[in-house]
Amino acid sequence: MQSHKRYTNQTFTKRVDDEKGRHRSLRSLPEPAVCEVCGDVYADRRWSKPDPERQSAKHEHFRAPNVVVCPACERQRSGVPSGYVYVEGEFFALHRGEIKRLLEREAQRAAEDNPLARIMGWQAGQDGKLTVTTTTEHLAQRLGHSLHKAYHGKVHYGFSHRNKLTRVWWQRD
Ligand SMILES: [Zn+2]
Repeated sequence: MQSHKRYTNQTFTKRVDDEKGRHRSLRSLPEPAVCEVCGDVYADRRWSKPDPERQSAKHEHFRAPNVVVCPACERQRSGVPSGYVYVEGEFFALHRGEIKRLLEREAQRAAEDNPLARIMGWQAGQDGKLTVTTTTEHLAQRLGHSLHKAYHGKVHYGFSHRNKLTRVWWQRD
């Protein structure tokens, strides 16, 4: 199934993965660049939140940035998440607001490390289940860890390396 999707270019993937500590970008961007959707800035081969102080300090010899769409916004546009967090159970039903706020706070902290890590959507399903989708696999794992750390319950993780997809199930009754 889906064998026609074997388009992974090994050499390319390897080269990108070698850039340790850098946010992976599928193509090299001309710098500086700014995302036309979220306003994040790409410079020194990293994405970061725009820093108003730094920008105004630089202003005299500021080069007009290239307007692009950052990988996180691209993913949001495509609607295809890299991570899913499934939240369910009676405890969750009783503490829905509190748990949602915990997840939001954790996502904000994650964005300080990597602005491309974002929550894409919150989907309330049947039986009061919640599905949170994320732009990165790591953020889904991080949300799972934070739920387990704060509220215990049961958590498990599923990884699909082929599809670069992480699923996290957290449940507490
Ligand atoms: Zn963006």
